[in-house]
Parts: sequence; structure tokens; C-alpha cells
Amino acid sequence: MSVQTDQAAGTTPENGGLPRTSREIQLAARPTGAPTAEHFSLVEKPIQELTDGQILVRNTWMSVDPYMRGRMDDRPSYIAPFQLGEALEGSAVGEVIASKSADIAVGSTVSHFAGWREYAVLDAAVVTPIDTSLAATHHFLGALGTTGLTAYAALTDVARVNPGDTVFISAAAGAVGSVAGQIAKALGAAKVIGSAGGPAKTRLLLDEFGFDAAIDYRAGDLAGQLAAAAPDGIDVYLDSVGGEHLRVAVDAIRPKGRVALVGAISGYNGGTGATGPDLYKAATREVSLRGMLVNSYFPIFGEYVGKAAAWLADGTIRTTETVYEGLEQAPAAFLGVLSGANTGKMLVRLG
Ligand code: NAP
Repeated sequence: MSVQTDQAAGTTPENGGLPRTSREIQLAARPTGAPTAEHFSLVEKPIQELTDGQILVRNTWMSVDPYMRGRMDDRPSYIAPFQLGEALEGSAVGEVIASKSADIAVGSTVSHFAGWREYAVLDAAVVTPIDTSLAATHHFLGALGTTGLTAYAALTDVARVNPGDTVFISAAAGAVGSVAGQIAKALGAAKVIGSAGGPAKTRLLLDEFGFDAAIDYRAGDLAGQLAAAAPDGIDVYLDSVGGEHLRVAVDAIRPKGRVALVGAISGYNGGTGATGPDLYKAATREVSLRGMLVNSYFPIFGEYVGKAAAWLADGTIRTTETVYEGLEQAPAAFLGVLSGANTGKMLVRLG
């Protein structure tokens, strides 16, 4: 990763102790296949003056997410590509340190989409104040953030869990998966099976997140392991992985089963050549496979946060986080979330 700095760094008494520059991570080059540190640069830039209606946020936590890999490519998608030589973006939370808005006071904590930088000048209208009395700030990027909402929407709407169901969840030790397993139990699932990479993660599924069975997909024979865990098949599958996981899950699904197509991380760095699911089997078993984007559930975000904060407080949902320290570590954290370096939500602490 290259590093560029601006001449006028630092804070001065003349500007009330406010910072004059902010460091940000920019896209330096587009990867072919797996990204590396060379695809990012750390750049220091002046912070622009606030105009009416704007606030200055000191970011304290930022999220790195697998979908960001797709934004490194220059191709049409549901979300615009990152631009070369410009800051990346993504979910972050921070403290308001200056305000020219009557709506957002200095000292408030807000969530927004200008991550990958230390400070952000934002229109007050695009930030969401967060209630830090509900839970620690970082939870608003995880269990109380979009990954939690994704898990909830997937299992209550996209592939609805009914009491007594057998539920299978992939990437189960990650942010969406670990919360999803616990929500499935709260919804009355009789058996929740998770798949994750390696024995440490499968142990965590059983000991920490309350899964009934755990599969180490890296040990091989995914179909055999799933058949052993669910001899009578599964009713619901939350797919974060695609490829072989999706094929094996559809093979194991019972009539009228439901699949939430949440992600396909096994293919994010390019084609894996994995065979897709047997759609004729899906047809004859009247299985539904439904895609989802969490953005469609933003109208219920507030309602979800209230419910999930109570679940966090009463222990229905337990979380773990993998935290990288400092903006310069953000690319490493992002590369790590793609390769499984995280358990629970992958986060970068900025201050
Ligand atoms: P995460 O699960 O915390 O992190 C990704 C995990 O994927 C890694 O920790 C790794 O765990 C696993 N993984 C990587 N390559 C894999 C492979 N080839 N096969 C199996 N597992 C693999 O990430 P997240 O933020 O919670 O996202 C999970 C999925 O949900 C992603 O596919 C993401 O794109 C999707 N998502 C979708 C929406 C939506 O709106 N549709 C919203 C949020 C997230 P292991 O060590 O276990 O391999």
C-alpha cells in the first residue's frame, strides 16, 4: 500500500482544535482475482469547511464487508464501483465534533456510509443518530447493524423459519451467520447446523453461539457431513457462500424448503468452477430460492434494532468481533474478511 501525506497536517488553535486533515484509504488499482495490499493507498487530505446543514464526524469504528470486493471491479452491479484514486466507502460510526446543523448536535454518535477515512464531512440528512444507551457503539455495525438485519430479514421473511424446522447456515462463524444461528433458535428452529472453516470456528459455533451441530467444510465431504448432521434433511438454508455449499444444501432440502440467497463469497474473487444447484430437484420439491438485499429492509431497521438490542441484553444473541486497530490496517482487515481471518464481525477501530 502506498502512503501520501498532505503538507498542512495536524490541528491548530486557530481552528478550535479541530483537525485540518484526514487520512483515507483509496482504491489504487483494480484487482484481477484476489486483491492484495497493493490495490489500496493511504492518502492524507485537507478537511473541507462545513457549509450550512453539514457536520464533521470523527469516525471511531468502520466496517469491512465481503460485498466490497465486487465494488473493486469496474462493472455494472446493484451498487456503483469504487473509483480509482478516490476514497472507498462503507458503513462507519463516529462522534460529531463540529456541526452546522440544527438537527445533529456536537457530541452525538451517528452511523453513516463514509467509512475508510478518519474524518467525514457529511450532510446531516445522510447520517443516522444512534442510541448508545442500547449497546456499545461497535454493535451498530454488527448485530445491530446491516449484518444483523440481514440475518433477521433472511430468516423471518426471505426464507422463513417455522418452529420445529431444521436450519442450515453457511459462513456460520461470521457476522451474518453467527447472528443468524441464534435468531433461528429464537424463532423456534428445532435444529440449527452451521458450517465454517476449521475446528476453532466449529467449536465456537457449538460452545458460544448455540448451534446444535457444526460442520468444518475445509475437512471435505460437505454432503456427507450435512447428511450426518441432518439425516432427514433441512427445511431452511441461509446461503452466504454459493458454489458447493448451495448445491449440497439444495440436494439435502425437504419438500417446500426455503433458501435465502444472501451471498456467494466462494466466487467473489472470480469463478471457482463449482457446479450450481440442481434446479430440477428444487422444482420437484417445490423449493423456493429467493435472493435478498438488506437495503430493502431499511424501513424496518429501527424496529429491528429495538428487538435485537433486547436480545443482546438478555443473552439471546451473543457476539464476538475481530478488531484491527487503525485506518492503515483497514485493507488487511478487508483481505482478512474475504479469507476467513475473522470470527464474528470484522471491524476496524479508528479512535
Ligand atoms: P463474514 O461471514 O463475517 O465473513 C466472511 C466469511 O466467509 C469468512 O469469515 C469465511 O469464513 C467465509 N468464507 C470465505 N471464503 C469462503 C469459501 N470459499 N467457502 C466458505 N466460506 C468462505 O461476512 P458477512 O459480512 O457476515 O457476510 C456473509 C455473507 O453475507 C457474504 O456473502 C456477504 O456478501 C453476504 N451479505 C449479503 C447481504 C445482502 O444484503 N444480501 C448483506 C450482508 C452480507 P470461514 O473461515 O468459515 O471460511
